[in-house]
Amino acid sequence: MRKRILVANWKMHKTAAEAKDFIRQLLAPANAEVWIAPSFTAISALKGSFVTVGAQNMHEEAQGAFTGEISAGMILEAGATFVILGHSERRRLFGETDARILKKVQRALSSGLTPLFCIGETEEERQQGKMAAVLQRQLKNLPAADMVIAYEPVWAIGTGKTATPEEAQEAHQLCRALLSQMWGKERADKTPILYGGSVTPQNAADLLKQPDIDGALIGGSALSPQTFQEILKL
Ligand code: PEP
Repeated sequence: MRKRILVANWKMHKTAAEAKDFIRQLLAPANAEVWIAPSFTAISALKGSFVTVGAQNMHEEAQGAFTGEISAGMILEAGATFVILGHSERRRLFGETDARILKKVQRALSSGLTPLFCIGETEEERQQGKMAAVLQRQLKNLPAADMVIAYEPVWAIGTGKTATPEEAQEAHQLCRALLSQMWGKERADKTPILYGGSVTPQNAADLLKQPDIDGALIGGSALSPQTFQEILKL
């Protein structure tokens, strides 16, 4: 039985003081793990709370002349235990390629961080019937290791358009089948696959009921403790 994991991706929101204020208002749910990826500067503010704390990105090298970047060792020291890699905003706005993201995955794993590896097709790719090919390409060469996958259709992120529970389940089932081919059934069956893309308290329950949806990666609805709590309670 896979555990339910509900992850907040705060993107470029919330200072350390705001993160502390948020966590004071949040109650631990009975049936789910709560993970939060705040800004780098707020990671240490959440350390020691009931949530698992992570980073939203990291550099693939251990150290070096990379002005403005941050390493796995630095985020570990700050208190992070997981790192979001391959988020569509990193792919689209910062030009991260599949090959580079894979290097980041390798670095995260060798440093002791759990990758939260994001995949998903654009609206155009879906309309052209390329969803399966895109997911297959993004998952290709992913090393067999303990990690969490997030299926996030790009057209659903921050848009208010959510995949229907059936559409999401179909994509999750496909991801699990691809992982099973790559890694074997046992590991694929125990790997949590989260859904992300305009999850709200109104649509979360039906998504989370699907057999291959093990939790959610939540942006906008995780910025208010009240709204996030409503999803944690489901
Ligand atoms: C995200 O950023 O990963 C995300 C799913 O955002 P939103 O919930 O706002 O669509």
